[in-house]
Amino acid sequence: DSLIRISGVDKRFANGTVALRDLSLDIGQRQFISFLGPSGCGKSTALRMIAGLTAPSTGSIEWSKESGAASKHVHDIGFVFQEPTLMPWATVFDNVYLPLRLVGTSRKAAQPLVEEALEQVGLANFAAVYPRELSGGMKMRVSIARAMVTRPRVLLMDEPFAALDEMTRVKLNNDVLRLWSEHDLTVIFVTHSVWESVYLSNRIIVMAARPGRVVDDITISAPYPRD
Ligand code: ADP
Ligand code: ADP
Repeated sequence: DSLIRISGVDKRFANGTVALRDLSLDIGQRQFISFLGPSGCGKSTALRMIAGLTAPSTGSIEWSKESGAASKHVHDIGFVFQEPTLMPWATVFDNVYLPLRLVGTSRKAAQPLVEEALEQVGLANFAAVYPRELSGGMKMRVSIARAMVTRPRVLLMDEPFAALDEMTRVKLNNDVLRLWSEHDLTVIFVTHSVWESVYLSNRIIVMAARPGRVVDDITISAPYPRD
């Protein structure tokens, strides 16, 4: 079933740069999709448009009726950036609590949700710790917990592990796969790593630059159930 339908989308910035040309894509529920391509092919722009952070110049991005208010309420989307972007003055707990606080959830009501989100990324014992005490991989786990704490339908990840060493990266890949398999979750994962896209996804959207466009759409039948 189609969850997000992207039809004939172009993105042209004010300075004339065409970041994306004629993007059309049906994204199904429970898919794990990678946007794979070199720097500048419009991967981040595509992700930001899906998140509603920037609008298409032409074309449309529609969410299925079934996904309810997904297109209007940011809390149906979790976003993980390349940098963990944690508040250094706040504990791990408060960092993960933030999206719930922003929609008016009390600390008390949020507590079990924050604890569960931290548990899912193996950081149950780190709630009281400050970000500076954590490794890069752990900070990224906090960032993932923060994205998941609102129980989004769609998790958008923009080259989240590019700055991490390869061992840490594989561990985090496995965490994301586990999150995805345990939740009713669609993941859209931006990467320029071929192995990462093959390891993670059941569908790879291959892109090229100047102008940014889709050049291939590959479905992977993995040796384990993914649909
Ligand atoms: P990727 O994520 O694949 O590296 P981006 O989506 O970040 O690609 O960028 C696609 C193209 O659009 C690049 O040429 C980039 O320089 C350009 N671009 C991105 N954001 C802007 C902007 N705000 N203004 C002008 N050009 C931009
Ligand atoms: P990333 O590679 O992680 O997507 P960038 O460094 O390309 O991030 O972009 C950082 C910010 O700068 C984004 O908000 C993006 O839209 C903007 N940006 C990127 N390229 C350009 C550009 N050529 N002109 C203006 N803004 C840009």
